[in-house]
Amino acid sequence: MTRMLIIGPPGSGKGTQAARISERLGVVAISTGDIFRENVKNETPLGIEAKKYMDAGDFVPDSVTNSMVRERLKADDVQEGFLLDGYPRTAAQVAELDDILRETDLDLDVVLQLTAQDEELIRRLTGRATLDGRSDDNEAVIKHRLDLYHQQTEAVVSQYEARGIVAKVDGIGVIDEVTERVMYAIKVTQ
Ligand code: AMP
Repeated sequence: MTRMLIIGPPGSGKGTQAARISERLGVVAISTGDIFRENVKNETPLGIEAKKYMDAGDFVPDSVTNSMVRERLKADDVQEGFLLDGYPRTAAQVAELDDILRETDLDLDVVLQLTAQDEELIRRLTGRATLDGRSDDNEAVIKHRLDLYHQQTEAVVSQYEARGIVAKVDGIGVIDEVTERVMYAIKVTQ
């Protein structure tokens, strides 16, 4: 059983890799971004609240995100392990996840960080905006999301580095190759 996180800047391919890793490991992938987008699409109260932040490239407030994740991690399908994609992104979210796991006596096995240069990410995200029509992929918003990653989420990675559970993988390359790199890196880190 594996309990892991995947962390990476916007455009690093973490959603794509998360789907592949979860299949290989036989654990459920939980993407906070996907849950928010689903709620936005269905115009739920959570979606209406989250949309304001997402469109601006801001983080949805910790209180909202934390309670959503806390609820999700109670479901039966996470008993066999999980891959959290896009959470935690702030120090407060790390503390919350620590709490949730402590209450259930569970530990994280590995934190995967996908890396990429900003220039490459901007190039990719600008392309994705045209293809997928994501409302948070215009240039100013893209830059803001990258800034938040550098300002807040890299500090999250540092916290897990201090615990000795981070596997860093270069996210640039052919999708299959990146998946192989990831599978190797998480095997040697665990
Ligand atoms: P993603 O698909 O992971 O890039 O997430 C898309 C957007 O959802 C982000 O830009 C945030 O607005 C929001 N979001 C996703 N995960 C989180 C999180 N852990 N904390 C706060 N906001 C989040």
